Amino acid sequence: MINLAEQQQVETIVAGERPDGASTRAVHGRLEGRRPQANHSLVTPLVQTATYTFHDTADLCAFMEAKMWGGDPAMAERGEYGRYGNPTVQAVERRLAALENGGDALLFPTGMAAVTNVLLSMLSAGSHVIFTDDCYRRTRYFCNTFLRRLGIETTQVPMGDYEALEAAIRPNTRLILSESPTNPYLRVVDLERLVAIGRHHRVKTLIDATFATPVNQRPLEFGVDLVIHSATKYLGGHNDIMAGAAVGEAGLIHALRQSQGVLGGVLDPHAAYLLERGLKTLALRVRQQNQTAQAVAEYLAAHPKVERVWYPGLPSHPDYAVATRQMSGFGGVVSFEIGPRPGEEALDTTSRFIDAMTIPYIAPSLGGVESLIEQPALMSYYELSTEERLAVGIKDNLVRFAIGVEDTADILADLDQALAQI
Ligand SMILES: *Cc1c(COP(=O)(O)O)cnc(C)c1O
Repeated sequence: MINLAEQQQVETIVAGERPDGASTRAVHGRLEGRRPQANHSLVTPLVQTATYTFHDTADLCAFMEAKMWGGDPAMAERGEYGRYGNPTVQAVERRLAALENGGDALLFPTGMAAVTNVLLSMLSAGSHVIFTDDCYRRTRYFCNTFLRRLGIETTQVPMGDYEALEAAIRPNTRLILSESPTNPYLRVVDLERLVAIGRHHRVKTLIDATFATPVNQRPLEFGVDLVIHSATKYLGGHNDIMAGAAVGEAGLIHALRQSQGVLGGVLDPHAAYLLERGLKTLALRVRQQNQTAQAVAEYLAAHPKVERVWYPGLPSHPDYAVATRQMSGFGGVVSFEIGPRPGEEALDTTSRFIDAMTIPYIAPSLGGVESLIEQPALMSYYELSTEERLAVGIKDNLVRFAIGVEDTADILADLDQALAQI
């Protein structure tokens, strides 16, 4: 027997609306785009080279003609120099575009390189960008310092306040930037509403969808112009590489690719090879992480020593309705607040709980096979006082639990014994 979701998937495939599902795309990319590989290799060959050779001057001139004026597409696509492209990297870009249902994709050496490259390429002096608070801290920092220094105006609006977002639009606004879900409170942007505002004012929209992955949410299908990922997280999925990605319509990605050749931040082919290997199991990993995170969120919500749980799959989350409408899973990160203990600072109780956990490592990052746990007050905001942290919305008793692929029952048992110790 197939379940209802699978039956619906079969119907859309038969109707030709969607060629295949997330796991098929993760393994193969677009089936119709499958190309023969060198030496009949099944796996994308790792082309670890900095430059590419020309057989003779006529070969060089044929390449230049094709590059400058169009012509033989195979000739125009061949390698010239590593900063302008690499076949291993390009194969992974095609696979990512298929996963996000985008026209094309572009890889970067880190998620932040994707963010900075995109913003530097799309904005110029005198233009204006709007971003939501609760965005990745370094992204906000880049907007407020680097972009302002270059004469680009920036406005930060509260996440979830669409009136404030629309009111912030000026004649020179070029871009609205948000994350969905956000870190650490897993706030979810209403993509339909965001796109409607953007289109009405002819402003491009950009979503950092690192926490969702294309398995759970595909913003381009809602009309968002550009999706960004820190591929260091779920896409790579093994806590062993750093990478970033931008996915969107082919013309926009082409323009970004031209900028990348100048700005210089390209992904190393070996990291791309490992990223492709990770991508093949993306859907399997994310489904397991969704399932464990939902069980963890429900367990914690019912626990007397836990004050509050932030997970978009719980009806108590402020964005539960939006999340159930536009996501097929709610991701592998659960944030929660430890309840007060008499005679002890919240910061210390929370640290004791974290130290009592045995499965997750204490580390920043998320999305890999290993569970990671952290206290944002100490991991990301150590230099601030309790009051200053509260002003940016980070409580001392907050825990961010990034769930890996360990067994759900083991993780629940670990939480149970750690909570019993505080
Ligand atoms: C980690 C992260 C980034 C930055 O990515 P790096 O690969 O670490 O440079 C950007 N956005 C979000 C949401 C992230 O989690």
